[in-house]
Amino acid sequence: MYLERGYLEDDELPPKPSDERLRSKRPVAYIECPQPIPCSPCYESCRFDAIEMKNINDPPKMDYEKCTGCMACIRVCPGLAIFMLQIKDDKGYVTLQYEFLPWLEKGDEVRLFNRKGEEIGKGVVTWALKPERNDNTQLVTVEVEKDLIFEVRAVRKR
Ligand code: SF4
Ligand code: SF4
Repeated sequence: MYLERGYLEDDELPPKPSDERLRSKRPVAYIECPQPIPCSPCYESCRFDAIEMKNINDPPKMDYEKCTGCMACIRVCPGLAIFMLQIKDDKGYVTLQYEFLPWLEKGDEVRLFNRKGEEIGKGVVTWALKPERNDNTQLVTVEVEKDLIFEVRAVRKR
């Protein structure tokens, strides 16, 4: 069970965006927020009606076709539960929140970890938002093998 384990197994993940949406010009938000807790910054931040939350205790549900990839939700999620995903030129891109020192910079090589904390490969930072521009949490985009975009959920500098 998730609460004892602390991470989601594959069969507990939300539905995935279509391959077509993943390959479109803008990344798409993928929300892995399983707990019914009173939290709604993601829902309140979305100006495009892409996140459904009928009750503040409901886990958010995504409408991937409405998501513009604006990244407003990932900037405000206190649970580090939102990932922006994209496939471009057969490479995968995962944008995630990053809270470790030293901060990352574009071009940095990073180690990739899955939900269980297991190391699953290496990637390169392609974009890094300065922490002072996002409430002292960095947003970073990492280029990874495209088959890993639903696996990579944390990175560390090598
Ligand atoms: S990325 Fe933007 S459009 Fe997509 S769910 Fe988040 S806030 Fe809404
Ligand atoms: S802001 Fe983050 S933690 Fe809160 S409901 Fe949304 S996805 Fe879950």
